Amino acid sequence: MLLPIATSLVKPILVDSHAHLEMEPLFQDADGVVRRARSAGVAAIITVGIDLEDARRALELAERFDDVFVSLGYHPHNAKNAREKALNEMADLATHRKVVAYGEIGLDYFRNYSPRSAQKAVFADQLSIAKSLAKPLVIHLRSAYEEGLTELEKAGPFPAGGVIHCFSGDERDAQRALDLGFHISIPGTITYRKNDKFRAIVSRLPEDRILLETDCPFLAPEPKRGKDNEPAYIVYTAQTVASVRNTSVAVVGQTTTANATRLFGLPLEEAP
Ligand SMILES: [Zn+2]
Ligand SMILES: [Zn+2]
Repeated sequence: MLLPIATSLVKPILVDSHAHLEMEPLFQDADGVVRRARSAGVAAIITVGIDLEDARRALELAERFDDVFVSLGYHPHNAKNAREKALNEMADLATHRKVVAYGEIGLDYFRNYSPRSAQKAVFADQLSIAKSLAKPLVIHLRSAYEEGLTELEKAGPFPAGGVIHCFSGDERDAQRALDLGFHISIPGTITYRKNDKFRAIVSRLPEDRILLETDCPFLAPEPKRGKDNEPAYIVYTAQTVASVRNTSVAVVGQTTTANATRLFGLPLEEAP
């Protein structure tokens, strides 16, 4: 089934490529959250399950809402719980018809909620799971770009592609991700006053490799900073990306929606 994209002269069409609708406080207000996203022009939301319980809630939402899709995998924070049986179960869930990607998987050396050795082992295991499922990868790297990108370079190539979500690396990291054939996903942090370096990187990214995300309920963009984030607020991120790249919000919406549709195989109709 194809989802109709509402076309409008004023509203850009956007895809929130990374959200956590299955987390509170969004889960309990899912109807309201999805309704507000639709009226802001969000055509599809990918909600990301980070352990088995979270992934099941994400699938529940995807079954309820046509325009909600799922990516799932053991987040590096939860790597310590990802034993073989749990990883097999996760791989099973990933065969659900609305799962469009595998992840977020990766390394988080900022929080270190799981020991680094466990993070590395579970990352490697899940890279092979994603490859065998032929799903695009959703990669989470925090304070671990050098090690994470090296791991990806060793384990690649990845014919189904992937995305470095919530990008927080430097110019060189961005180039290595592009060389891997990956997309770079831009979160609300691009609106933060002190983020000139990130804005400079985004101004130079190739148009066909950019995605937008909220990572909600975290990282609300200006002017909602400090509040719980939700997919409707992706509009502010799109506006900042447009101004940084000297283009219109409509063009940013068109290109990022086309990129997300292509990478994740979303059943969105082409805008006329
Ligand atoms: Zn993440
Ligand atoms: Zn996330």
